[in-house]
Amino acid sequence: MRDTAAGPRTLLRRLRELMAEALEPQERLDRIVREIAQNMVAEVCSLYVLRADSVLELYATEGLNPGAVHLAQLRLGQGLVGTIAASARPLNLSDAQKHPAFAYLPETGEEIYHSFLGVPVLRAGRTLGVLVVQNKTMRQYREDELEALETTAMVIAEMVATGDLVRLTRPGLELDLSRPVSLTGMSLNEGVGLGHVVLHEPRIVVTNLFNEDSEEELARMEEALGSLRLSIDDMLSRREVAFEGEHREVLEAYRMFANDRGWVRRLEEAIRNGLTAEAAVEKVQSDMRARMLHMTDPYLRERMSDFDDLANRLLRQLMGRGPEAIAASLPRDAIIVARSMGAAELLDYPRDRLRGLVLEEGAVTSHVVIVGRAMGIPVTGQMKGAVSMSENGDAIIIDGDEGIVHLRPQADVEAAYAEKVRFRARRQKLYRELRGLPSATKDGVAIDLMMNAGLAVDLPQLAESGAAGIGLFRTELQFMVVSAFPRAEAQERLYRDVLDAAKGKPVTFRTIDIGGDKVLPYFKGVAQEENPALGWRAIRLTLDRPGLLRTQMRALLKAAGGRELRVMLPMVSEIAEIRQAREIIDREVRHLSRFAHHLPTSLKLGAMIEVPSLLWQLEELMQAVDFVSVGSNDLFQFVMATDRGNTQLADRFDPISVPFMRLLRQIADMGRETNTSVTLCGELAGRPLSAMALLGVGYRSISMSPAAIGPVKAMLRELDVGKLTAFLDETLNAPTCEKNLRAMLQQYAEENEIPL
Ligand code: PEP
Ligand code: MG
Repeated sequence: MRDTAAGPRTLLRRLRELMAEALEPQERLDRIVREIAQNMVAEVCSLYVLRADSVLELYATEGLNPGAVHLAQLRLGQGLVGTIAASARPLNLSDAQKHPAFAYLPETGEEIYHSFLGVPVLRAGRTLGVLVVQNKTMRQYREDELEALETTAMVIAEMVATGDLVRLTRPGLELDLSRPVSLTGMSLNEGVGLGHVVLHEPRIVVTNLFNEDSEEELARMEEALGSLRLSIDDMLSRREVAFEGEHREVLEAYRMFANDRGWVRRLEEAIRNGLTAEAAVEKVQSDMRARMLHMTDPYLRERMSDFDDLANRLLRQLMGRGPEAIAASLPRDAIIVARSMGAAELLDYPRDRLRGLVLEEGAVTSHVVIVGRAMGIPVTGQMKGAVSMSENGDAIIIDGDEGIVHLRPQADVEAAYAEKVRFRARRQKLYRELRGLPSATKDGVAIDLMMNAGLAVDLPQLAESGAAGIGLFRTELQFMVVSAFPRAEAQERLYRDVLDAAKGKPVTFRTIDIGGDKVLPYFKGVAQEENPALGWRAIRLTLDRPGLLRTQMRALLKAAGGRELRVMLPMVSEIAEIRQAREIIDREVRHLSRFAHHLPTSLKLGAMIEVPSLLWQLEELMQAVDFVSVGSNDLFQFVMATDRGNTQLADRFDPISVPFMRLLRQIADMGRETNTSVTLCGELAGRPLSAMALLGVGYRSISMSPAAIGPVKAMLRELDVGKLTAFLDETLNAPTCEKNLRAMLQQYAEENEIPL
């Protein structure tokens, strides 16, 4: 009887020798299939490779008609070979012709073969081809033979992935691996980037496939698994995850998998068959991924991703590759592709090399997305399959405006996008030239263009954009990108850095606006709310937990020693909230002055107008504060009862409408009447058309993302605001609301040559 373990080992040894020899690719393939056939005592061994046009082409055969090589073809899903490729699963048949999918290719002369064993050639869960052995007799192939064929297929996958076979493709045809792919997901930050794929959790290219000594490899694997388990236990015991929550669940899953006997057994088996520990991880993972691809249960698919992450960790453990080595090899035009990522991990990449971020998950409010936006790179999310479809170094285009990604784009697509990027760059240059010019309308009305910010990475934008100051500093972002409450010193340091960077320009700090969609995973006590937007959030939460506000105020007061401090309260619904907050703030001022701290030269307190109730107490409100700022994002959501994060409703109602503009005008008018400074800091301020409407109804200060300042300034310098106000007043004062105000304003801009 044949030694079942010796077969695969001998085969792998022979393959290693063949890979090392200086052979032409076709010759190498021919010898590989011959070697497999011999080793497995099969009369036939054939390799089919998947082309970009979804056709499987016979690339090499031992036993079938050699004249059929590069001629015999099967479509994906057609015949047994096509079925294997489509399902990414092996087929082991003692009588192949009885199988319903059997398709006879006359050119191959395969009608005399009965038994059939075929396995997919897989890489990172993608099918690249199919490897088949056949025998005349009706035999059932053994499990170890299947294993051996799968392992061999992995070697071939490497040849395909490294481009070895490209020279064998006929002109005009391409292999599936180099096929251009366009993925559609969700736009999370606008902008366009051309560059090269950097897999965030790099699929480590396992180049050293065959082991010299399985015992040694088994020992390496055991050691790596041991440290992996330890590191998971360590992560689980850390303070920041020592509570319930998503992060903990993921880690629990890791721990479970790291101890999964089936997984470990498959890894060991692959090593015993002759693979290195690294190659074993890659093989087991690739098989598993391919099988899971067809699972529809979202829970299991999610767990598969956890398994993937774990396999990557194990690979890194085995190869001893740290994040430093990865950053050093980063291309100058990196587009990061990841399943998901922590905010801090994105900050680890050098900003000047980043051209975009593609996430398989990700939502508008994900922390990493917030950071991506702050870094000013295009971001797309919900890109299913992005990770397994890309290879490190692939050409890629990210279109953050449309939420599209083009992988390995064709020349015409690339040219179109390159033009788009050049056009943007030209416009940016134009905006930079505007930076030094006064921000005033054509009829001489000065307008304060401020920027919104929230993280230290935003600060360089203050000088670059030419903003008059920071109109909204979202302090909660610092809380959102970390895994535990930032300490008082860290808060103070950030606020001081912000004020230093502002060099005397005004900065309005908003006290933490958490709750609603801005959740802090480490903040206990927030119950599941039925309507989080209307729930326990922002000023409501900070008044109930005054410790939070006290710490933050103390940090702000200290950071602003010797300078002006402007503080703004979010989500105010009634005047009493301002009074209560003021009491807390006053107490902090008294406390600090008692200990002879250097205090701010002045303290201005403002409120955001986001809750409609304030509209019926506007005069009182303005008397109670030093300034107000309209949060049009929330105000519009509450006025129209339309969830700001619901994409289904995103275009349903237009803020540039008669009723909403009437309302905004009323606020601006009251500001003038009571001599209170009024700003607007929602997204409305950042689009030239809506910014124009805002100036038309009386706003003289607006705050927006830094990238919007150039376009808005270009607009206002061509605007006669007096004339626009007369036009708008007439429209808004007329008794009918049913007008397409947006279209009217667009036409107005066109007629008056105002660039939008
Ligand atoms: C707003 O609501 O308009 C606003 C500026 O605040 P945020 O977007 O942070 O809720
Ligand atoms: Mg808001």
